[in-house]
Amino acid sequence: MANQPMLKFVNVGRAMPDKRPADARREDFDEIYAEFAREKAAEQSGRCSQCGVPYCQSHCPLHNNIPDWLRLTAEGRLQEAYDVSQQTNTFPEICGRICPQDRLCEGNCVIEKSGHGTVTIGAIEKYITDTAFDEGWIKPITNAGERPETVAIIGAGPGGLAAADMLRREGVQVTVFDRYDRAGGLMTYGIPGFKLEKDVVMRRIAQLEEGGVTFRLNCDVGVDVTFEEIRSGHDAVLIATGVYKTRDLQAPGVGAKGIVRAIDYLTASNRKSFGDDVEEFENGDLNAEGKRVVVIGGGDTAMDCLRTAIRQGARSVKCLYRRDRDNMPGSQREVANAEEEGVEFVWLSAPKGFRGETVDGVVVQKMRLGQPDATGRQVPELIEGSDYVEEAELVIKALGFEPEDLPRLWGVDGLEVTRWGTVLADFRTHETSLPGVYACGDIQRGASLVVWAIRDGREAAQAIMAQLGPRAAVAAE
Ligand code: FAD
Ligand code: SF4
Ligand code: SF4
Repeated sequence: MANQPMLKFVNVGRAMPDKRPADARREDFDEIYAEFAREKAAEQSGRCSQCGVPYCQSHCPLHNNIPDWLRLTAEGRLQEAYDVSQQTNTFPEICGRICPQDRLCEGNCVIEKSGHGTVTIGAIEKYITDTAFDEGWIKPITNAGERPETVAIIGAGPGGLAAADMLRREGVQVTVFDRYDRAGGLMTYGIPGFKLEKDVVMRRIAQLEEGGVTFRLNCDVGVDVTFEEIRSGHDAVLIATGVYKTRDLQAPGVGAKGIVRAIDYLTASNRKSFGDDVEEFENGDLNAEGKRVVVIGGGDTAMDCLRTAIRQGARSVKCLYRRDRDNMPGSQREVANAEEEGVEFVWLSAPKGFRGETVDGVVVQKMRLGQPDATGRQVPELIEGSDYVEEAELVIKALGFEPEDLPRLWGVDGLEVTRWGTVLADFRTHETSLPGVYACGDIQRGASLVVWAIRDGREAAQAIMAQLGPRAAVAAE
């Protein structure tokens, strides 16, 4: 049929929005992909074959109604596409930008599996909601009437904010506590602007504030206010504090000046992007400019550090990873972006020690991949006598994050944790071992993804609403 807007994957190839040239990307912290033009978004949406059993949807943690909003976009019915998209996702424009789509929705698209190249679901999701903001379709949160109950949310990351949004839509009074001076959690201070520009996060925070969410920032729970004070003052509490304890290295010289934690390095850089005065950046401690930089680790945090160092004007930027390209945890798309921008990957290499009181080199040991372990991953083995020194004035440790010991830090009896230190909670209701106390996001599941934190936050809000019960009938005058 000439006017059939869908099923165009045979004749129309997969296209992403234009990617800025690597030379231009190196100069700033702006996102690297442009927006789709309206016609391009419609054309790319029209590649979808409208599967009866859409694997894209079942592999999206939010079970987004992807085929529906693709069809509406292909038909030019963008406001309806936005309405469908926002029903299941609190922050579609953020997920569209930073979900690892190759492992989730797009990686499971049947068109990808049949060799035609996936529908560009993430870029279209981003386009729909960015358009909705531009067109003024996104309004502050409204509800059918205020309720007297109060809920405290500890942590203003995606998990806490998704719950806050849902609870305000029900009219509940919500206060979000965060130890940082800005809300957003890792979306604000962890993930760099070249993946997620900061005004994209801030416009969501503004929308939540306009919708009546109260933020108590610069408030470190356990220091400025006790957990018990918060618990006794609210009908329910949601713990959404994320995971921030850095996994460390055991190697001679690891305490030297110039060896820094990824989270400190990225937070300083993100603060600079907001225009803040950051002493440790100004004095050079957390600034890669002019330095030879070595980042240790192979995950997405390592990729973000490498690409940040490039933008800060490092003399050279190298990634040390003990396995090879095929066995790294970081997304291949991000590795490719990093390589284009000038990062050098030194595979099968691990730090043996560090040289200098102020670091001036990493002693590197070469590895090879041995037999698989119980998880099926090949175990890296040392190659004796292969050591050499990699010169470096800044070394960034990006080995992953673990939960802090919350019950001890907060002095809470009865809050149970798992053997990994995450808060023990039901995976559907998110209720912890303390009645009326819930947990969501990374502090419940361990270091994960924004999209999972959003799902958890939405589910926790539903369970809190079930606890609060139906709205009390207003007594007749
Ligand atoms: P967080 O976002 O960590 O928010 C927790 C909040 O709690 C913080 O604001 C913190 O200040 C606050 N808090 C903690 N303790 C206290 C306390 N005692 N009192 C008050 N407040 C407290 N995911 C993706 O999907 N895509 C990506 O590209 C991606 N890139 C990443 C890059 C980096 C560098 C990192 C570190 C993570 C990345 N992630 C990415 C993972 C993602 O950011 C997290 O999974 C997600 O942010 C978890 O959300 P959350 O709400 O559980 O916690
Ligand atoms: Fe894909 Fe993430 Fe959007 Fe789900 S939320 S459709 S996984 S980009
Ligand atoms: Fe469309 Fe691919 Fe999802 Fe099928 S799997 S509905 S083709 S996006």
